[in-house]
Amino acid sequence: MAPSSLLKLTKHMKKEFILVIIIGTLTGILIIFQALTIARIVDGSFLKGLGLADLKPLFLGLLFIILFRAGLFWLGEVLAHRGATLVKENLRKELLKHLFALGPIYGRSQDTGHLVNTLIEGVEALEVYFSRYLPNLALAAIIPIGILLVAFPQDLLTSLIFLLTAPLIPLFMILIGNLADARANQQWYILGRMSSHFLDVLDGLATLKLLKQSASQAQIMSRLSQEWQTTTMSVLRIAFLSAFFLEFFITISTAIVAVALGLRLIYGKIAFETAFFLLLLAPEYYTPLRTLGVNYHAGITGIKAATDIFELLNTPIPPQQEGKKIVTPQILAKGIAFTNVSFAYNNETTAIKDVSFNIKPGEKLAIVGFSGAGKSTILRLLMGFVTPQQGNIFIGDTPLTDLYMDNWREQIVLVPQNPYLFYGSVKENIAFSRPKATLKEVKQAARLAEIHSIIETLPQGYDTIIGQGARTLSSGQKQRLALARAFLVDSPLVLLDEATTSLDPENEQLIKLALQRLLTNKTAILVAHRLATLEMADKIIVMEKGQIVELGTHKKLLEAKGSYYQLRQAYGGITI
Ligand code: ADP
Repeated sequence: MAPSSLLKLTKHMKKEFILVIIIGTLTGILIIFQALTIARIVDGSFLKGLGLADLKPLFLGLLFIILFRAGLFWLGEVLAHRGATLVKENLRKELLKHLFALGPIYGRSQDTGHLVNTLIEGVEALEVYFSRYLPNLALAAIIPIGILLVAFPQDLLTSLIFLLTAPLIPLFMILIGNLADARANQQWYILGRMSSHFLDVLDGLATLKLLKQSASQAQIMSRLSQEWQTTTMSVLRIAFLSAFFLEFFITISTAIVAVALGLRLIYGKIAFETAFFLLLLAPEYYTPLRTLGVNYHAGITGIKAATDIFELLNTPIPPQQEGKKIVTPQILAKGIAFTNVSFAYNNETTAIKDVSFNIKPGEKLAIVGFSGAGKSTILRLLMGFVTPQQGNIFIGDTPLTDLYMDNWREQIVLVPQNPYLFYGSVKENIAFSRPKATLKEVKQAARLAEIHSIIETLPQGYDTIIGQGARTLSSGQKQRLALARAFLVDSPLVLLDEATTSLDPENEQLIKLALQRLLTNKTAILVAHRLATLEMADKIIVMEKGQIVELGTHKKLLEAKGSYYQLRQAYGGITI
């Protein structure tokens, strides 16, 4: 990943970045004036014997410069942080937009943990890059160059020392930084291994106890923590060492400047005021370079984090086939048909082969089959996330590809296997499907989904916080919450991807009741596992390796003693 892609992101903080550069330039000018004023004061009071009254304007000037510098420093910090926040905000928006455009198929093929990391931690890691590294990079260019420009006409030797020593500092820091980087990577790798091992051990604690294996696991954990300790210490050693060398190098460089000036001062080859002025400039000259060195590591971390971000942003969006037609009740009134549909992911893995079926309005079609049979792919095809390579999907007489996708998807409500709960109140979680819904509407949806009474017993009712890191609901409650979301949108077509987890009889009964209610007067495709759901279906298609092998009602298919019958036998007859 080229840092140039990262630099392009500064477009989001253009104003702030320009201001930071202006502030840097102003600071550079102030630094020179500060040194000049101090040199004048010292020269005036010690060599020329001037009194306090004569020096008063200079002292006032110095005070003004110092206050002004402090103000500029503060302003620069604020602007840099604001700029970084803007970049992060815009980047997150861009990433989310791109992720949505890529669609759920992309999400499935990726490790979710990695995606979340990229979105949250990756973007966060850029904070330091934009708020510290980049502004410092600008300052490290402006201030030393400004000082050099002033120093050259004053004294050639000092300027040459400045010029020769400056590049060595960043170079040196980069060398040490790379070494520290390799160690830090190793450190993160061990930490990752340790935490996943720890989670595994926690998960299997009961089993380990039963098998009397806990002692050996404790040994592994202690070995991993030893490794962690050793690498952490070596990272710290490098960090201390590099800080020491940096300070040492800057001190030596300043000392060389001082000796070169001092010797000439002794032999009267240079005026005291000039010499002192240049000596005062020396630390100011090296400071931005030193800060850059210190922030180099943060810069590298940012660039690394950005690799994943740009990889995601550069993933091409699959072409979406869609038209401009808006769905009308007339179109919907003619039902849905798949005719000889075949589809392969990435044109490689055949998921659906020559599938044909139709659903009349109000009809409920259940799809059953072992995992990988192609059930979810049918739902994805119907939602327009993927387009068949062969065959057609018709909504009424209109090919699906002629419809305007956003409008088509508004006709569909999907009840997924694992409803996603985010950190927020129960009300917000239900209203996820229609954020503008009122509390009354949310409550009504919850009642229909048979979850209202449970919510009432929660400590803060509909305001109770659930989701990531907060109270979680049982799997049966989650499924009913997903049904409440579906009641709230009230679309004519329901797609249900039923969870395979078995439920206790009470939850089973409540879900059945809610589902029956939801499906009343609706057209539905049910990827079904439960007997109760299968009984609600008007017809069932049985899929095997992407093809339909049987079609009929629950009763007829059982009587036929074919694939459906065997499938049910394989799962003990309770759930598929
Ligand atoms: P089911 O829902 O019946 O379990 P799917 O429709 O998910 O089956 O999968 C059908 C086939 O397509 C399987 O072989 C599966 O591995 C493959 N498949 C599903 N999703 C993807 C994907 N995003 N990329 C590549 N192959 C996929």
